[in-house]
Amino acid sequence: MSLVISHLARRFGATPVLRGIDLEVRQGELVALLGPSGSGKTTLLRIIAGLDWPDAGGLSFDGADWLAKSAAERRIGFVFQHYALFPHMSVRDNIAFGLTVLPRAQRPGKAQIAATVDGLLRFLQIDGLADRYPAELSGGQRQRVALGRAMATGPRVLLLDEPFGALDAQVRRDLRRWLRGVHDSAGTTTIFVTHDQEEAFELADRVVVMNGGVIEQIGRPDEIYDHPATPFVARFLGLTV
Ligand code: ADP
Repeated sequence: MSLVISHLARRFGATPVLRGIDLEVRQGELVALLGPSGSGKTTLLRIIAGLDWPDAGGLSFDGADWLAKSAAERRIGFVFQHYALFPHMSVRDNIAFGLTVLPRAQRPGKAQIAATVDGLLRFLQIDGLADRYPAELSGGQRQRVALGRAMATGPRVLLLDEPFGALDAQVRRDLRRWLRGVHDSAGTTTIFVTHDQEEAFELADRVVVMNGGVIEQIGRPDEIYDHPATPFVARFLGLTV
């Protein structure tokens, strides 16, 4: 099983933002898209999510053309940096939300939804927060809940856009370890956008270094550190060539 992106291009007006992206993400992989602001990371993530469309190129999952499928049909879970949890809903109801709005034929019964949410609360180590409201949570706790909400419908791919960007350094480090654990035990395929190289290199199985709408290098963290492929990668990582 894999997500295959081929020769993907996107421009906004006269400005090319993605200029021929080729990338294959395997089932169960955790991949970081790393690059400076404006390098096209979010645009690529939005196209994978079905929130935006390319001008050229292909996107497929398990051999099926994803460009022809709606966001819902792709079964994606999405967490943004400033993820708006519903303020008037408890943690439990926020996590259940995606299940309660499924089309009737796919919607589980009330008891089944409650069991799924309980399982997720335990799995994500937030069972003590079930009856709180977002305003009563720390930023780190909110992002854990946001991930729970993204995972509730059993997505095939989780897309995280700078999910820890707004949090302080210690919380980010804790959440990184937590996310790695969650990813490994859930066996999901995860694509993670960050401009923070420490985050990318600690978390990811493979790092995709982007710059100006192209991929400069794809590799395991150690490969990229030991053999930066381009002067940009070396400079961006603070290495010398
Ligand atoms: P990154 O996530 O790496 O910071 P983005 O994908 O957000 O990069 O943006 C890449 C470039 O595309 C930026 O120059 C941004 O201003 C531009 N861009 C993104 N979305 C739009 C849009 N909807 N309309 C016009 N320009 C856009």
